[in-house]
Amino acid sequence: MDFARVEALLAEWGEPAYRSRQVYEAATRILAADYDSITTLPAALRRRLAEAEPLAELGVDDVRESADGTIKLRLTTRDGFPVEAVAMRHRGRRTACLSSQSGCPLACTFCATGEMGLGRSLRSGEIVEQLLALARILRDRGASVGNVVMMGMGEPFLNYENVLAACRTMHDPDGFNLGARHIAISTAGWVPGIEALAEEPLPLRLALSLHAPTDELREQLMPVTRRYPVARLMQACRDYRARTGRRVFVEYLLLDGVNDSDAHARRLARLLGPGPAFHVNLIAYNPTASDYRASSQERVAAFAEILRELAVGASYRRSHGSDIEAACGQLAVTGARARRRQLRRMTAGT
Ligand code: SF4
Repeated sequence: MDFARVEALLAEWGEPAYRSRQVYEAATRILAADYDSITTLPAALRRRLAEAEPLAELGVDDVRESADGTIKLRLTTRDGFPVEAVAMRHRGRRTACLSSQSGCPLACTFCATGEMGLGRSLRSGEIVEQLLALARILRDRGASVGNVVMMGMGEPFLNYENVLAACRTMHDPDGFNLGARHIAISTAGWVPGIEALAEEPLPLRLALSLHAPTDELREQLMPVTRRYPVARLMQACRDYRARTGRRVFVEYLLLDGVNDSDAHARRLARLLGPGPAFHVNLIAYNPTASDYRASSQERVAAFAEILRELAVGASYRRSHGSDIEAACGQLAVTGARARRRQLRRMTAGT
């Protein structure tokens, strides 16, 4: 929902100010999917609004549900860009993983979204709409969203203003009302974004996708390292911690034979240091079309044990929804490939 546009339209039409509040609250609290279900609005106004500015900003193309309860949506913006949103079940809570961009320019080598390149950054309403679409589906199953993580397609800090505006809307006590500490922004290491987040009054959580403890290895996995080397990244995280007092969550994807040795674990522990400043989330790799493979359970356990021995907090998050292509960008890439195939067939037929 482009709430600013709805508000402007209602003002232009001479409607009382409380009408825009009614629309906003119906969309974010009652999870109304269309104006017809907002019965507090006069029928004529509902029709007029529906013609001028549809309530849902994104179309839902595909809904997949995994055996483990993961729900993945493929959505499309009004101008045709694919977007993904996923709801994962983790320790009884539902976490919504949202996209900040359609595609991504950072080209991490293990990531299906990186393969797509950047389509465009999403508007704040398009980011919030992903959450509302997931919340509507979960409500029908008697569940609700407990956490949000900006860890879907895109680098959130390359779309800073829209991401922060979306987080404020998700947090708004008059709207969706999600606690700020239940919203995390996950970055691939865009240092200016980490610095800016440290100055925000809203106490959002910061997650860093690190995935390698050295510049040499990280450059192979995440080319953004050439711009912001590991030492600069760590300094930005330490400054963030000093400024906010909040812990930084380090995401570490375990890739078989690439970054999962005992030596890598020790190097990572040295980099982060002991104590509460960092917590490492070890993540099982959800294979995409790339050559990488997930590390074995034994390797994951050994890696985690070394971190704990060296006083670095670590937990392991299993892969979600591998049977429904739930890794970042997989579903959208599949959709983009299908569209390319369709286009080729159409071209061949002309
Ligand atoms: S992992 Fe994140 S930052 Fe890297 S290419 Fe994929 S979406 Fe972009």
